[in-house]
Amino acid sequence: MSMDVDSDSDISIDDGAGRKGKGKGKAGNKRRKDKGKGKATDAAYTWEASYTRTWDTVQEDESGSLQSAVEDWMARGRRRRLLAPAAPVRRTIIRHLILLLDLSASMLDRDMRPTRFDLTLQYAREFIVEWFDQNPLGQIGIVGMRAGLGERIGEMSGNPQDVLKAIADRHKLEPTGEPSLQNAIELARSSMNHLPTHSSREILIIFGSLTTCDPHNIHDTLDVCVANKIRICVVALAAEMKICRELCDKTSGQFGVAMNEGHFKDLLFELIPPPAQRALSRAAGAGATNPAADLMMMGFPTRLPDSSAPSLCVCHSEMRSEGFLCPRCLAKVCDVPTDCDICDLMVVSSPHLARSYHHLFPVKPYTTVMSVGDASGSTGCAGCARVFPMVALTTVGEGMSPVGRYQCPECLGEFCSDCDVFVHDVVHCCPGCGR
Ligand SMILES: [Zn+2]
Ligand SMILES: [Zn+2]
Ligand SMILES: [Zn+2]
Ligand SMILES: [Zn+2]
Repeated sequence: MSMDVDSDSDISIDDGAGRKGKGKGKAGNKRRKDKGKGKATDAAYTWEASYTRTWDTVQEDESGSLQSAVEDWMARGRRRRLLAPAAPVRRTIIRHLILLLDLSASMLDRDMRPTRFDLTLQYAREFIVEWFDQNPLGQIGIVGMRAGLGERIGEMSGNPQDVLKAIADRHKLEPTGEPSLQNAIELARSSMNHLPTHSSREILIIFGSLTTCDPHNIHDTLDVCVANKIRICVVALAAEMKICRELCDKTSGQFGVAMNEGHFKDLLFELIPPPAQRALSRAAGAGATNPAADLMMMGFPTRLPDSSAPSLCVCHSEMRSEGFLCPRCLAKVCDVPTDCDICDLMVVSSPHLARSYHHLFPVKPYTTVMSVGDASGSTGCAGCARVFPMVALTTVGEGMSPVGRYQCPECLGEFCSDCDVFVHDVVHCCPGCGR
């Protein structure tokens, strides 16, 4: 039975006699984030897996319905939310990320289907879309590493379309040669040098090789990254390498080895929510757990109508009619969010700012109503008005309500299971109390 992900990752690592769980421990113990569509996860490592048919991994119940499988999937999300720390943490919402793709020959390995390279590109695209959705004020740049060099593939940009375009053509990214972690990290670091202190600097490495050929001592590079407060995360596709683990540990990043396709995606998507900032301050040796916050200046631009007269933009020096005017210097920029090229003011649109807000104040997890006796008098869901079942189910999975009710701790409104998931994953605001 492979849908029960909560138990599988721990058990399957232990049950192989003499198999080392080292390096997988961190990833394996973590609750899996289940953005993956219930992929085959019953074997620990891809190379050990026998042939799996994806339709076998979804289990029907006695009546032949898939309802229980779906409910189980939703319950897992609910349990994951309850595990999250309730206390407010400080997060960086203006993020700058360099996605560092391994484009060395080892990416042509077929242990992940169709190849590591194709799968990485596919997941990278999904990652970028989801990342910008959750971090609308962030920017992503793309660097590749192949043939012993770091290669700038996409400039740092706040526009998801630009970033996606950079990795759209797979023929330009054809893997070849050896990777060089040092060269690639140096390139990524240099493209983040100019960033202001209020924004995060992050490098996410998708690494398929077991070797790196570096011109100098990579530990020097690591020290510089620590000094520059760059956070490095690595998702390894082959096995743990000491230097990768060290890169992550010293920069308070996360390290994980993907066990199979589904787990690869989980590891990537775990890195989408903004990291809590207290981890960073501890690593920097700042001592204080909550350093004083700095105010920063932002400007809300004026959007020019499409019918306005064409004029030169300051970012590309092209004649365009559409664009935004910087509120301070009235320079015209093509896209927001961005830093004004003339006066350096951060230009953001207010919807972008509002969408970043929910990470700081997440909706409190709804409590599970365990019996009809505990339920309030309401007959229908406070979100969609669907009528609650009157009889309690006898068998339900962990974290699920036998009466199908989930209650907001603030407004005490009761919601159905679908609305619970929708409120926490999409709306980020309780419809009952607005919190
Ligand atoms: Zn422009
Ligand atoms: Zn300006
Ligand atoms: Zn509902
Ligand atoms: Zn509420």
